[in-house]
Amino acid sequence: MRCEMCGRETELYRAIIEGSQLTVCNSCAKYGKITGRFTEAAAETRDNRKEAKKISDEPLESVVSNFGEILKKKREELGMTHKDFAAKIAEKESVLRKLETGSVKPTLERARQLERMLGIRLVEELKDEPIENQKSSSAVTLGDVVKIKIRKKG
Ligand SMILES: [Zn+2]
Repeated sequence: MRCEMCGRETELYRAIIEGSQLTVCNSCAKYGKITGRFTEAAAETRDNRKEAKKISDEPLESVVSNFGEILKKKREELGMTHKDFAAKIAEKESVLRKLETGSVKPTLERARQLERMLGIRLVEELKDEPIENQKSSSAVTLGDVVKIKIRKKG
């Protein structure tokens, strides 16, 4: 997206300038009244609901790619055979073998069950914020400063 006034490709704001709602850069926004931060996601919600829905359905968590190794390592740690371990996690032995080699991927729900049963980590959070972080470095607002402080604490 580009600033509707100067065409600069940068962080954009929604602003009312001379009575019109415009999407403009930080410097052009000074000619009017900023009504909020402009984000691509917000635009898609307005312009294309289907597209926005697809984005919001995206899972924020995902099964780690080396789940097989983790399962195998845990089984070996416990000194269990495939048969015993399969019984422990209420799974068929044949399926367990496939899980360990990575040819069958557990669902997110199943991975969570296994996490609880075995005390291992099989689910990772997907990060979706680095783009905004990079953009905000040029024009840091008070809101950004507060957000950054909170992030550093946590
Ligand atoms: Zn501009």
